Amino acid sequence: MSSAAGLPGTVYLVGAGPGDPGLITVRGRELLARADAVVYDRLAPAELLDACPPAAERHYVGKAAGRHSLDQAGICRLLADLAARHQVVVRLKGGDPFLFGRGGEEALYLAERGIPFEVVPGVTSALAVPAYAGIPVTHRGVASSLAIATGHGARAEDEPEPGAARPAEPGAHAAAGTFEEAPVDWAAVARGADTLVVLMGVGALERITGDLLAGGKDPATPAAVIERGTTPGQRVVTGRLSDIAARARTEAVKPPALLVVGKVVRLRQAIVWLERRPLFGRRVVVTRAREQQSALRGRLGDLGAQVLEFPVIRIEPPADVGPLAGAVARLAEFHWIVFTSPNGVAGFWDRLAAAGLDARALAGARLGAVGPGTADALAARGVRADLVPGRYETLALAEALRGRVCRGMRVLLPRAAEAPDHLTRALAGLGVEVEEVPAYRTVMDGANAAAVRSALAEGTVDAVTFTSSSTVRNFFAALAPGTPAGGEPARLLGGVATVCIGPVTATTLREYGIEPAAVASPSTIDGLVEAVVRAVGTSGRDQS
Ligand code: SAH
Repeated sequence: MSSAAGLPGTVYLVGAGPGDPGLITVRGRELLARADAVVYDRLAPAELLDACPPAAERHYVGKAAGRHSLDQAGICRLLADLAARHQVVVRLKGGDPFLFGRGGEEALYLAERGIPFEVVPGVTSALAVPAYAGIPVTHRGVASSLAIATGHGARAEDEPEPGAARPAEPGAHAAAGTFEEAPVDWAAVARGADTLVVLMGVGALERITGDLLAGGKDPATPAAVIERGTTPGQRVVTGRLSDIAARARTEAVKPPALLVVGKVVRLRQAIVWLERRPLFGRRVVVTRAREQQSALRGRLGDLGAQVLEFPVIRIEPPADVGPLAGAVARLAEFHWIVFTSPNGVAGFWDRLAAAGLDARALAGARLGAVGPGTADALAARGVRADLVPGRYETLALAEALRGRVCRGMRVLLPRAAEAPDHLTRALAGLGVEVEEVPAYRTVMDGANAAAVRSALAEGTVDAVTFTSSSTVRNFFAALAPGTPAGGEPARLLGGVATVCIGPVTATTLREYGIEPAAVASPSTIDGLVEAVVRAVGTSGRDQS
């Protein structure tokens, strides 16, 4: 909503957290969901922008190769300008806005101009990044004080430039022009705190550790450098104050990264947890329709995987809704209605609603569901499946129905327009009259194809998941159009583990000359996730 009648909007200085998009606060997320404009930089997790309304103005003010970004004065002016035009302006900053984020400068600028603002603190990298590396910054009997310092002499491209706002724009309040950071008194820091966390220091580790040593810190003090903490790309290098700089250089640590110095670093050995997850460091391409990805994505992410979304299909209403509408008008005729996917349930219910009906219209029929996901989709609409076979495959459905149906009974089968017909044939074999109607269709999507193609070319993909035959077909149609089976597709996926939800999907994959690395059993999302772990899982690697 844009500001009405000249009422000024509010600028929210929101901490985005350290990298894991789940580490933003509830308040921060809520504001993103209502944002009219969002101003963000490189350390704010990109996924968070998906929480903004599509119409929200997005302003990137971080540094990017070959592009000049706004300086601090420019960012402040942009915030003021946006507040004049919009109600909710979110200034999204990595970590916490007031810890080396220059949030204080922006707040001062807004305060001086009477522009309403609010500060939404964030989870700072200074605490969260050590935590994700298994390092508690304080620990009973080990460390009872903590210092957080900037090593800003080492500024890298993506890091804030302290002092860039000087000189302040003409006319600015005197206070706004004096932000040169005071130099860190490393000798005092070396003596003053048990644990030391240094941000923005990765390019000057030699100098910083040298200053700490000169200040009297024990060279044997344990130390760690943590790169891209809290993300699936987290890397940890450990050592001692005397050699951590050299080790970080050998490992080519790049920003964003921070340094932790103190005895608490030793606790990592026992507490390390993120890197122990079975899919940590693995990159998995997920091909499901966008609306269905979240469960799979979430489960893989919880196991430490980095998920690359490649929604190769999109679910749409069938081209001709006539047959489904016709069946819905005659529901009393059917003895059984058998659903083979949550999409079928959704498409069927849309038509039911369009006819002004609800679940009561199903009172006379028994309901079958191919598996628990489909049964859940029914349950979400207030009805319980009468039959869910033990194995979650379409043919198992026909088996399970044997004995529950008799010759001449009528079975309605609302399913994908392009579904293979073996279930229909198996049911017909039981002597029932099957009416198969399209309840939805899957169309090719393929958004993100360029990113997936280059990830495959770089060899950074460990596994690809397929949840239906149409995901297999559209995957190749999107990436290797017009190529014969066995040629390009096999080369495209050389060295990549392919994981299928069930035997039918596996058969479709074999048509392209590719043997699946693993097939889910049972054919559920949980089964698929387990199959991914079987195919590419580790027992956890620890780089220290
Ligand atoms: N306001 C931010 C800090 C901004 S300064 C906060 O509260 O976290 C930027 C520095 O933060 C980087 O140079 C790096 O030292 C540290 N940093 C931010 N995100 C990080 C991450 N995911 N992993 C390691 N260090 C990170």
